[in-house]
Parts: sequence; structure tokens; C-alpha cells
Amino acid sequence: MGTLVPITLWFYIIEFHDGEDVSAITGEAESFEECQACVQHDCDELRREGCSVLQVEACELCLECRGDGQIESATCMMCGGQTGSFESQFFLPRLGWKRLAVR
Ligand SMILES: [Zn+2]
Repeated sequence: MGTLVPITLWFYIIEFHDGEDVSAITGEAESFEECQACVQHDCDELRREGCSVLQVEACELCLECRGDGQIESATCMMCGGQTGSFESQFFLPRLGWKRLAVR
């Protein structure tokens, strides 16, 4: 029996300040490399609109249950019921990407 490797996606949240309020946009990508590219693109767009990017959080989630660990109250078969993210990364505008936790 081999270990089941779940198929995952990267989900990200970009927090920004538009001059009046703090807002956030979200997105998702198939890999961390793609996620970095999407975040870079979105941050460029936000700066062009005059917003300042505060923080970005990216999490690797199970594609099937998206971090819930279950689907319709049954244990997710793809990840075996893992809740939360497999990996989290934070991106701070001046510091770059930083891995925070690996479960
Ligand atoms: Zn799952």
C-alpha cells in the first residue's frame, strides 16, 4: 500500500488598503509557482489602481474538500480527512515569501 498523495490547489488572499478601507481579494492556482505568478499579477494591478498591498496569505488545500476534511459529512477520500492547509505561506511586500507552517 502506497501513501495516498492528495491533489491540491493553492488558495490565496491578498489584503490591501485602498486609501479608505482594508479589503481583500482571493484567488486560486494549481501550484505554488502559479500562485506566486497570480499574486504578483494581482498586486501589480492593485498598485496600479493606487492601493497598497498589506499582506498575502497562501494555503495549499485538498482539491476535493478544500481543507474541510470531509464532503457531505463523510471523510474526504482524497486526503483522508485532513483539515486545514497542508502548507501556508505568507508574502510580505518587503520581505517576500515566507513559509510559516508545514503540517
Ligand atoms: Zn480532502
